Amino acid sequence: MNDILPEHSHVWQFLEDCAREVFQSAGYCEIRLPLVERTELFSRAIGEVTDIVEKEMYTFEDRNGDSLTLRPEGTAGCVRAGIERGLLHNSQPRLWYSGAMFRHERPQKGRYRQFHQIGVEAYGMPGPDVDAEQILLVRRLWQRLGIRAELRLNSLGTPESRQEYRAALVHYFEQHQSQLDEDSRRRLHTNPMRILDSKNPALRELIEAAPSLPDYLDADSREHFRQLCQLLDDAGVDYVLDPRLVRGLDYYTRTVFEWVTDALGAQDAICSGGRYDGLVTQLGGRPTPAMGFALGMERVVTLIEQQAPDRPPAMLPHVYVVHSGEPARRLAFEVSELLRDQVSGLRLMLNCGEASFKAQFRRADNSGASVALVIGEQEASTRTVQFKPLREHSEQQAMTLDALPDALAALIDR
Ligand code: ATP
Ligand code: MG
Repeated sequence: MNDILPEHSHVWQFLEDCAREVFQSAGYCEIRLPLVERTELFSRAIGEVTDIVEKEMYTFEDRNGDSLTLRPEGTAGCVRAGIERGLLHNSQPRLWYSGAMFRHERPQKGRYRQFHQIGVEAYGMPGPDVDAEQILLVRRLWQRLGIRAELRLNSLGTPESRQEYRAALVHYFEQHQSQLDEDSRRRLHTNPMRILDSKNPALRELIEAAPSLPDYLDADSREHFRQLCQLLDDAGVDYVLDPRLVRGLDYYTRTVFEWVTDALGAQDAICSGGRYDGLVTQLGGRPTPAMGFALGMERVVTLIEQQAPDRPPAMLPHVYVVHSGEPARRLAFEVSELLRDQVSGLRLMLNCGEASFKAQFRRADNSGASVALVIGEQEASTRTVQFKPLREHSEQQAMTLDALPDALAALIDR
């Protein structure tokens, strides 16, 4: 679980601002959901035999003896809220959320126990239009952020067609049981499609030669996928068809996708999602098609720091106010409030904590401000301020309070 320090937090804000802007521009509204839900919600939604439910959840009993879990992902809570609050059928809601998720994984680069996702969900639209819309939203977000990623795409078909595929897979892997590793052998009869997701290089050839999911797709899913690909082609989206992309959560149907990068090492997925037409009924709601995705903020922030030289810099103050003595301090407060009222967008840092002028100038310099306003005994008695450029060689000059707002407005957006 990480601390996000000031040297990185402005990049997080940049990501959050861009995401909000992009999602809102397509009519998606923010929903804020609890961090904790009943354990049962996740085991029913995500699936008993997934990695998350088997071994990654932070689960505890509260004082009433109820079993609760820190959310490992956002979709289950969103569906729960949608059903409870009647959001799913009124206005075809398009929603987005962001926040912390918790998974007790083995910590490593790009994989943390508290991490953050931004996610999007849409209900009541059987697609493929909304599938394409969401993929285009993600592409637009990458463009806004200045990062690059590759889109991988697959269709999982309906639960029925998947049963057939599953049987074929089990049959195939049973014939090659001796080549499976321990994890895969365990999954063979519980969740055989997850074997395709294995990161063990020793299994690569075996997995390559396994039956291919697209060969088992039902006709409707095949047509849905064709139309989605057509919309993506029309929009000039590059993608790679990846028949081995199965995703680690049970609730997906039809479209699944993942955006990957080669810039982060082993943890290469930065955003993943898909359609989950069965989940709402599974959780007790009326049949409701649904489509969503989530991006991993830590990984995207790292990519922005690596790839986006034009990202906005940290927000440094424009002005640092230096003062000495009580009358000067009172004027410094008066001037600071006046300027904050009158110069919109101004970032002004007022020296707090007594210190010599020399020490205050060092603080002003370290703050990154481009100008110091200096107030001593003399200035306090004449109600003036010394305007001292810190980053260029020009003389300091005395100014009346009236002249200050215009002089400082000129600093903004420079
Ligand atoms: P992975 O294959 O990396 O385990 P996942 O399939 O478990 O990912 P999802 O549950 O689909 O991931 O989550 C969506 C995104 O959230 C991922 O693409 C990834 O960027 C990010 N993510 C998932 N787990 C973590 C984690 N433990 N730490 C940081 N980011 C994570
Ligand atoms: Mg995972």
